[in-house]
Amino acid sequence: MIRKKLAILGATGSIGMQALEVIENFPEDVEVVLLTGYSRGDLLLEKCRFFSVKYASLANSNAFIRYQKDFKEAEIQLIEWQEVENLISSAEIDTILNALVGAAGLAATVKAVDSGKKLLLANKESLVIGGEYLSKNYENWRDNVIPVDSEHSALFQCLKGENKASVRQLVITGSGGPFRSFSKKKLQNVTPEDALKHPTWKMGKKITIDSATLMNKGLEVIEAHHLFDIPFDNIKVVIHPQSIIHGMAIFSDDTIKAVLSNPDMKLPIEYALFYPERRSSVIEPLILEKLTLSFEEPDIGKFKCLKLAVQAGKKGGIYPAVMNAANEEAVHAFLSHGIRFLDIPEIIEKVIQSISWTTVESLEDIYEFDKEARSKAREFINKIL
Ligand code: NAD
Ligand code: MG
Repeated sequence: MIRKKLAILGATGSIGMQALEVIENFPEDVEVVLLTGYSRGDLLLEKCRFFSVKYASLANSNAFIRYQKDFKEAEIQLIEWQEVENLISSAEIDTILNALVGAAGLAATVKAVDSGKKLLLANKESLVIGGEYLSKNYENWRDNVIPVDSEHSALFQCLKGENKASVRQLVITGSGGPFRSFSKKKLQNVTPEDALKHPTWKMGKKITIDSATLMNKGLEVIEAHHLFDIPFDNIKVVIHPQSIIHGMAIFSDDTIKAVLSNPDMKLPIEYALFYPERRSSVIEPLILEKLTLSFEEPDIGKFKCLKLAVQAGKKGGIYPAVMNAANEEAVHAFLSHGIRFLDIPEIIEKVIQSISWTTVESLEDIYEFDKEARSKAREFINKIL
């Protein structure tokens, strides 16, 4: 196998750090060329040293200035955030793990596709807001994208070797989050601290809140629609509290294929990294005899975000970007104790209602409506404060 020349964008986050843990097992197969972070310069420097990384970047300009000297002393080139796009499209890198969080990941996803690099995609928001743009502008963009999101990694594996026309339904599973069995009344008073206690996965803060509101499942439906080119009506969400089955494909003959494993992101990261090869295990194996698996329908009356996201996905155009931006702002406000849990879907709905639908013709359109939706969301948030 040729040694991969890898860039990890968002290396200091939950996915980024788990990817580095995986790579530690395969030093001869992966050369880590670039690692990026936002403001955690110390952690980034430590990882750059450990993996003998040539380039690093910090997206936060204050942090960039603060750590410049330390990186220089370590003989690691700290490049400006604006330079990252050039580097990932250069011959120094052939594989990109996009582990950024939120709409901030869009530019890297588009650059990776545009320059024909292998893209290991964790940043689901970039597909949610940019999937339609990619399909309009790059006929074969799917060929170089390997999903890292566990459900999509599972679906990708279920669909391997199958004819798309024989897929009746894709099933995305979700644990239901920490509030699965809460009444609507009880949901009124949940705190960010409660919401950050996810029952089965340990993840970054934003996705953990999205998991509690079920927005994460909504984003994942849109992500699956774009990744696999399957109509929205043929994608469904099923709550599966044990998080053992990650995704299923149901075929025309009623065969169901599923992918099972213990819930550990290191597995889909490893799979994406070495696809189409399989390597030795980096996770705890499943003990089948100990399993009890259960499934239920998501309660969209209680968890409105799922419905709002799928509706925005179906409408397409600028609405997924508007919905996503409003969600990012609302989650941010909830995390800083500014609004209540049940305000999140209300804000998203109001923002969508306040912006007229239009098509997406360019990346600028996405950025413009992302900005407008954020400013509308902040207006609604300020009214609550
Ligand atoms: P995280 O918050 O832990 O890490 C995000 C990374 O992006 C960090 O390195 C941070 O420094 C960097 N970053 C944040 N804002 C930035 C900005 N504006 N510009 C540049 N860099 C910035 O997030 P995470 O949980 O690792 O999730 C990353 C992505 O993967 C998300 O899209 C998430 O939905 C998806 N995902 C995560 C998990 C998981 O288990 N954590 C599972 C499936 C999918
Ligand atoms: Mg997921």
